[in-house]
Amino acid sequence: MGNNDLCLREAILSEETEDGKIRCLTCMRRCIIPEGKLGFCKTRKNIDGKLFTLTYGDISSLSANPIEKKPFFHFYVGSKALTVGSYSCNFLCYWCQNWEISNRAPDEFKNYVSPEQFMRLVKAYKCQGTSISFNEPTLMLEYSLDVFKLAKSGGYYNTYVTNGYMTPEALSLLVENGLDAMNVDVKGCKEAVKKYCGADVDYVWSNIREAKKRGIHVEVTTLVIPRVNDDVDCLRSIARRIRDEDENTPWHVTRFHPEYKMTDRESTPIKTLEQARQIGVEEGLKYVYIGNVPGHSGENTWCPNCGELLIERYIFSIAKYRITEDKKCPKCGTEIPIIGESNL
Ligand code: SF4
Ligand code: SF4
Repeated sequence: MGNNDLCLREAILSEETEDGKIRCLTCMRRCIIPEGKLGFCKTRKNIDGKLFTLTYGDISSLSANPIEKKPFFHFYVGSKALTVGSYSCNFLCYWCQNWEISNRAPDEFKNYVSPEQFMRLVKAYKCQGTSISFNEPTLMLEYSLDVFKLAKSGGYYNTYVTNGYMTPEALSLLVENGLDAMNVDVKGCKEAVKKYCGADVDYVWSNIREAKKRGIHVEVTTLVIPRVNDDVDCLRSIARRIRDEDENTPWHVTRFHPEYKMTDRESTPIKTLEQARQIGVEEGLKYVYIGNVPGHSGENTWCPNCGELLIERYIFSIAKYRITEDKKCPKCGTEIPIIGESNL
């Protein structure tokens, strides 16, 4: 079998429409796809009345990364996750840092890595888990499920770094088959997400709520972009929505640099990120982090009760880890929500 055949698999989530087309139920675009055509993301095709994914195991990038790079700051601190991505996306973000793969439709040059090979690499690279990332992982739903099942049977964790736009059906399958944690990108407030990503952010919030309800560890990231989502009201409303779900949910406010179609503005000023962090704290979030600013104290974890330094980070490495074995602040004994055992 050639790589093209190996990457072509029948999609798990679809239904026939009344007029004989196929509706894809993988993400909230819920594309209706006529015979012979592709969906919005160009990774799913109606072939003879059945929906197929074209990118099962078609890997564009693979690397063993610190879990802090996703970023996850409260999940298996200091561990490594074998991270893979494929091609294309269901969003159209103007600032995409991975546009070379997310803006590229899958082509005939396939780089197939089977779930079994993938798991052998997890072991060889001494990783503690998996991460589907780089482009939107939901488009790799079928592959993720197969990888996750194998990973769980071997005692590894599974993570998604996602725009959070999967359908409830897709989220359910991920949860049932071994997803442990998601970092969800909340890209801004309603109008900005519609304008720049062509998406409805309310679906993202619903998935955050549902994932947390079902016991998935969730961290939220917002790339703070001048004149897109940096106004105080927008940042405050994001912070409030996270707090209303759970004040312990980590929120990463990260620095934008000009990229892809958004080169008409400056990098995010550090003081804007500091203000965003302050807003998060004022709204009651206990763990708000500044990202993409190496050496900033906002990369560290501080005890929300007594202010003690708990985890000191430098970019993606851990310089100091001071949380006790029973996951408490060593000074005041406050419980610190950290999932999993770290290697530290
Ligand atoms: S995954 Fe989303 S964008 Fe792609 S075909 Fe399915 S519904 Fe459309
Ligand atoms: S969702 Fe992520 S991968 Fe997709 S276009 Fe936006 S930034 Fe790029």
